[in-house]
Amino acid sequence: MSDGPTYGFDTLQIHAGSRPDPATGARQTPIYQTTAYVFRDSEHAAKLFNLQEVGYIYSRLTNPTVAVLQERLAALEGGAGAVGCASGHGAQIMALFPLMQPGRNLVTSNRLYGGTVTQFSRTIHRFGWSARFVDTEDLAAVEAAIDGDTRAIFCESIANPGGYITDLDALAEIADRNGIPLIVDNTSATPYLCRPIEHGATLVVHSTTKYLTGNGTVTGGAIVDSGKFDWSASDKFPSLSEPEPAYHGLKFHETFGALAFTFHGIAIGLRDLGMTMNPQGAHYTLLGIETLSLRMEKHVENAERVAAWLEKDPRVEYVTYAGLPSSPYYPRIEKICPNGAGALFTFALKGGFDACVKFVDSLEIFSHVANLGDARSLVIHSASTTHRQLTPEQQKAAGADPNVVRLSIGIEDPDDLIADLDQALAKATA
Ligand SMILES: *Cc1c(COP(=O)(O)O)cnc(C)c1O
Repeated sequence: MSDGPTYGFDTLQIHAGSRPDPATGARQTPIYQTTAYVFRDSEHAAKLFNLQEVGYIYSRLTNPTVAVLQERLAALEGGAGAVGCASGHGAQIMALFPLMQPGRNLVTSNRLYGGTVTQFSRTIHRFGWSARFVDTEDLAAVEAAIDGDTRAIFCESIANPGGYITDLDALAEIADRNGIPLIVDNTSATPYLCRPIEHGATLVVHSTTKYLTGNGTVTGGAIVDSGKFDWSASDKFPSLSEPEPAYHGLKFHETFGALAFTFHGIAIGLRDLGMTMNPQGAHYTLLGIETLSLRMEKHVENAERVAAWLEKDPRVEYVTYAGLPSSPYYPRIEKICPNGAGALFTFALKGGFDACVKFVDSLEIFSHVANLGDARSLVIHSASTTHRQLTPEQQKAAGADPNVVRLSIGIEDPDDLIADLDQALAKATA
């Protein structure tokens, strides 16, 4: 698609980044299942390695199928560029990598995907990085956690597991004032429901494994860069603002401007960390994205119906869905995610841990899996699975208490979903 008029979301989700294949005219994006690309001559090769010409060298760095997905995600999020990664967790490390050094920290919301809590509270210590977990509803606590070594604020737009809506504008304002980027995991919302860059985010990370692909087939991730952060405004981000020793002294920000983070992510991040998305995976995700808006509308419609039904049921203690008028996050929908509050939420069962286990085991349409954002409805009891490795305090802070079950509402017939929940609740509370 040419740079012409600004197209609407439904047009971009099908066309952005793709064009008929120049060699064959193939209309659908081919899967370029190749490791390497033949150089025209030695001068061409030298220019590619010097980043003086953009092209393809080796598929750990760039691949034409993955490049279409990168361009499409950048368009949908309103960013300058994107880097595809092997998984959502890979994208998180890749997003932090250019910003961090041993001794540096990030300030992060304590309401996160369970695996991210573990990655940030344990694994990144091996790199000499650390994370400070705060309740992002308490803006004074966010501010207080930031010090001279903080290099980013991290949160989820629609946060796990309860589907809480984060006040992105407020966090972006704090990040701005402290000269650091706001990184937003937009997996549960997708750019159809929420566009974090419009709320001041510098980087958006995704697990494309979820709604973007939409059918539970592949793992993948991506980082979208807004292109708006001034990496040279302070001495905090030398890897982007100073000569980068890992790329023969290239100054990424000076050389690539708004695309500095994207080029760094490919030329150094993918080159040296190797968390690369594969072309087959990118193909499945591209197919999924073509129907993103249609699916998300149905996900939201179903979630609203199911949550409202659960809230009225006497066997249920509470429902966290932000799309319910009773939710404290309901007033934020209009500002942060005007197309709906997503389809991920939790509810608490009267009867506690044992009733939850019985409930999960009694469901027939809902699949008991450690996943979310599938066309299929999914369920998980976080306290006995994804959040099992957390302390009781961390479980509570994350909204994953022992009597809480997380639902990811699919796009099936909502009456069938409600009937399934009804019969499983009856068995769990018998
Ligand atoms: C799944 C998920 C991740 C991790 O993504 P993977 O593709 O499984 O590595 C990160 N954040 C959120 C919100 C997720 O749902």
